[in-house]
Formats: sequence, structure tokens, C-alpha cells
Amino acid sequence: MSANCLFCKIAARQIPAKIVYEDADVFAFADINAQAPTHLLICPKEHFASLEEATERHEGVLGRMALAAAKLAKEMNLGGGYRTVVNTGPGAGQTVFHLHMHLLGGREFSWPPG
Ligand code: AMP
Ligand code: ZN
Repeated sequence: MSANCLFCKIAARQIPAKIVYEDADVFAFADINAQAPTHLLICPKEHFASLEEATERHEGVLGRMALAAAKLAKEMNLGGGYRTVVNTGPGAGQTVFHLHMHLLGGREFSWPPG
């Protein structure tokens, strides 16, 4: 856990959030500022800031995140289409520096993204 990290504090239940999934490696919770009818954030329990900090050691947890997204999408009935997004760095809009995958669904999405 990183001392001043919002998402580490959510994982530790020090800050309230609607946690919808948890296993040994990964947890997922509702985004506080939802951009779609379903908007979840899927995070590794281990703190690392972004994909830029990921190493070979993280291969497993990165796979777990993607599989958790697919499982949650099924549970949320997002079969018509959903979007997973990982913003990396301020230039891409990353604002919380604990790796997270957005899972968005329940509406139409355009391409390219903004
Ligand atoms: P990003 O901009 O990719 O770093 O995404 C960070 C996301 O975290 C944003 O979509 C925020 O709405 C969300 N967020 C910030 N604070 C909280 C919180 N306390 N609980 C849930 N989601 C949060
Ligand atoms: Zn963290």
C-alpha cells in the first residue's frame, strides 16, 4: 500500500467506495463520477502508478484485470458492447496514479475517443 494513494485507501476500506469485486490480486469499484450507466474501475491490489511502471512481474495481474473486466461486463449484461480504457500519464488524462482500468458500458461509444 502506498501511504497517500486514494485507491490503496479504497482497497483498505479507509475511504468508502462501492466495491463490486475483489480477489487476491484485483479489486473493482464504482467510479464516483460515472461517464456511462456502468462505470467501474478495476485495480491491482499492488500499488503501481501506471502501465509505464509495469514490468514482466505484473504480467499475471494485468491478465487478471482484463479477465475481471470481462466477468463484470457479463454480470452487468453489457453484451451489446463495452469499453475498457487505461489512461497512462497526464497527457492521456490520468488523474489517479494507481493503475486502473475503466470499464464503461450501457450506452453507445464513439471512435476515436476524445
Ligand atoms: P483517470 O482519470 O483515468 O486517472 O481516472 C480516475 C478516475 O477515478 C476518475 O474517473 C474519477 O472519477 C475516479 N475517482 C476519483 N476519486 C474517486 C473515488 N473516491 N471513488 C471512486 N472513483 C473515484
Ligand atoms: Zn495505490
